[in-house]
Amino acid sequence: MSFYQSSPETIFKEFQTGKTGLTEDLAEKKLQEYGPNQLQEKKKKPTWLLFLGQFKDFMILILAAAAIISGIVGDLTDTIIILVIILLNAVLGFVQEYRAEKAMESLKKLTETQSKVIRSGKTLSISSLEIVPGDLVILEAGNMVPADLRLIDTFSLKIDESSLTGESVAIDKSPEVLESPSLSPGDQLNMAFKGTLVTNGRATGIAVATGMDTQIGKIADLLQEETPKTPLQQRMQRFGKVISYLILGICAVLFITGILRGEEIFPVLLLSVSLAVAAIPEALPALITISLSLGAARLAKKHALIRKLPAVESLGSVTFICTDKTGTLTQNKMSVVTSQKFEKEGFWKNIAEAPAFSPFELCLALNHDIHFGEEGNPEGESTELALVEFFIKEKSKESFQKIQEQFPREEEIPFDSSRKRMTTIHPLGEKFLILCKGASEAISEILEKKDDAQSLEKASKDFAQKGQRVLAFAGKIVSKLPESLSDLESKLELFGIIGLIDPARDEVKDSIQECQTAGIKVVMITGDHPETAKAIAEQVGIWKPGDVVLTGKELTALSDLDFSNQVEKVTVYARVAPEQKLHIVKALQQKGHFVSMTGDGVNDAPSLKASNIGVAMGISGTDVSKEAAHMILLDDNFSTIVNAVKEGRRIFDNIVKFIKYIMTCNGAEIWTITLAPFLGLPIPLLPIHILWINLVTDGLPALALAGERSEKDIMKRPPRPPKQSLFSDGVGYHILWVGVLMAGVTLFTQFWAIRQGWHWQTMVFTVLSMSQLGHVMAVRSNRTLLFRQGFFSNKPLLLSVIFTFILQLSVVYLPFFNEIFHTQALNLKELGFALGMALVVFHAVELEKIVRKLVSHK
Ligand code: ATP
Repeated sequence: MSFYQSSPETIFKEFQTGKTGLTEDLAEKKLQEYGPNQLQEKKKKPTWLLFLGQFKDFMILILAAAAIISGIVGDLTDTIIILVIILLNAVLGFVQEYRAEKAMESLKKLTETQSKVIRSGKTLSISSLEIVPGDLVILEAGNMVPADLRLIDTFSLKIDESSLTGESVAIDKSPEVLESPSLSPGDQLNMAFKGTLVTNGRATGIAVATGMDTQIGKIADLLQEETPKTPLQQRMQRFGKVISYLILGICAVLFITGILRGEEIFPVLLLSVSLAVAAIPEALPALITISLSLGAARLAKKHALIRKLPAVESLGSVTFICTDKTGTLTQNKMSVVTSQKFEKEGFWKNIAEAPAFSPFELCLALNHDIHFGEEGNPEGESTELALVEFFIKEKSKESFQKIQEQFPREEEIPFDSSRKRMTTIHPLGEKFLILCKGASEAISEILEKKDDAQSLEKASKDFAQKGQRVLAFAGKIVSKLPESLSDLESKLELFGIIGLIDPARDEVKDSIQECQTAGIKVVMITGDHPETAKAIAEQVGIWKPGDVVLTGKELTALSDLDFSNQVEKVTVYARVAPEQKLHIVKALQQKGHFVSMTGDGVNDAPSLKASNIGVAMGISGTDVSKEAAHMILLDDNFSTIVNAVKEGRRIFDNIVKFIKYIMTCNGAEIWTITLAPFLGLPIPLLPIHILWINLVTDGLPALALAGERSEKDIMKRPPRPPKQSLFSDGVGYHILWVGVLMAGVTLFTQFWAIRQGWHWQTMVFTVLSMSQLGHVMAVRSNRTLLFRQGFFSNKPLLLSVIFTFILQLSVVYLPFFNEIFHTQALNLKELGFALGMALVVFHAVELEKIVRKLVSHK
């Protein structure tokens, strides 16, 4: 018999559990037996396969083939050393890919969710991995279902099962036993399945399957998704292809002209292929992945968890940050500062045993979801917490508990951000007490008396202008429970109003200022009253005179065109329903903006998905919003978004820097080899020299460039247009002219050294590889001169430059290497000349910075 056909009692028996859940001991035992509640990853590529993958590259295969053939017909040492270099290249590529993969894995681990379970009668929050069959799991709107559950108790429960069944409409669930045999999961209405999303209501269920035994576990293989490539990676891939064909073309010409000049086939072939291997920027994709994933790891340390890798690179392009107010800009530490009671004499007049408290007090003590935790402290949502604390301070904890016992809750209509109110129903003798609290407009529209509504509106405006969050309390007594919700929440009497403050976070003002200098506009979107919202927005610097405050209602009334005309001027949206956020995102995007949107609730998911950077709250956010987001704020703090944007800009800058570095060096190799014959010079370098230089440039220095710190002006310049080419802003020119300069310097060295009768080839080899080192030091900043930036401010880079420098000297001076690399020890004059020439490039790039500064100041 399937679980859905069994009654809860049968299931309790089967899993040795009951209404108070498992005991900790039994849960522990079951965890040993069933293992953690997780889906196993698809079998990963074994490490050796990752290594072998490095040789897949077509050009590398050709190079190896050419080396072997030329070894057979000629010099075997050359062959061996080429093979060694190919191997080193593969090791380097492998280490890079391996690191990238590890960084991605550790990121995944951080996104584990928590679940609420009942064990030994107590409600606990545990890691979803620890859920075992038999656990009593509590579901709430916004949760992701952590295991397959047989529901035993549901309250307006709706579940979105699209991840499992493809059905996009949320399904109503209820606990009744279903008789029909062989129902598909989609029809098992008393079951909730792992990985699906609770969009509404509450429920309790018994875990009947965990981990790979769940429905989704059975099809988990189908769900393994490859990490999609980021836009930058895709662009680089396309660019890489074009440039590869170009380089292959050049190498083919080199080969053909070599043959026509009557040179031997194999040496020319080897030279052309080596050049192709060296010049094709095959290391770039891996380097980009590493930068992005290491960047993501760094961001995690700064409390911003990246869920989708493309977010890292898009962060730097953000032009609008739309943020929630409560908890993100403010501390989410509410406290009651004003209260106004509306006396209701005679409210209890027809009640036989009239309560000893006023209706306002009862409403404060009963209309909330606060419970007392293990330590005896009240726990729950911050607004309600403040109200309960206020009641306890004014009265006492005993009165609070007494009221709770005396007036149990019969029914409730929960709070949600669209209704903006919450109603509870309590038996009162033969009758019922209906209590309601909510935003002032949400209460005002259901009051019986016009006077009440007017006083409420006036008082709430006063409170709100001082930046206070206003809550109104109302209720009525009925003899019979009305059938419809609209009858229930109508004709209420006003009991009182309360004003709460929630101070702004200390660091937020500076962060907003930072955004403004960085060309990023900050917009507040809140469910709160427009006056409250505006007052707080002004405090933190979001709202300035001249800016527009728009309410949800006004937004609905505007035509798309009218909204589009003013969307860039609005800095505060108040009383907005979460669904409207999508409208705001779209309007901004249509204006060409790159939007970051925050959210925490179930209804925020569509706008988070549609925005360019959807940001979910780590502490207060629902699983649903986290699923939809690109990034999760572990501390719910606005300033973390700004730090992430800064980090995103830095990462992008550094990617551009190593692209600039590698492409310039590759260009220089091509120019040198192809131009030499035109200048009447012999072929300047041997294939192994070219491969060596490639190894050196693609290796450590490039990797260390990815760790470069952010430039001083990083938050003083406007956001980078997302579609802007990587080669704009002078990057393309740099690659071209510095490449030509490097080749020029090298060829001049060749020409001069031949005239002087020096060891010209070793000198050419040295100049070209040393120029790369000078270049990497200069390219560290786009604008700041190295001596200002600090010679030692990127130690890994400095160390890699020193290391490479020593290696190069060893290649020149150690007899063992002399033989392998066909080099000769240079005398002091030769070495001095070579180093001097190599320094030209460094100085020229430094000069470029000065020229750029002068030009941009004009
Ligand atoms: P933000 O979007 O910045 O988080 P918010 O928290 O004010 O704003 P909501 O949570 O949607 O937005 O609340 C909207 C309004 O509903 C609040 O201004 C308040 O008046 C009212 N409200 C908030 N919490 C409750 C609650 N638990 N019960 C009844 N009314 C509430």
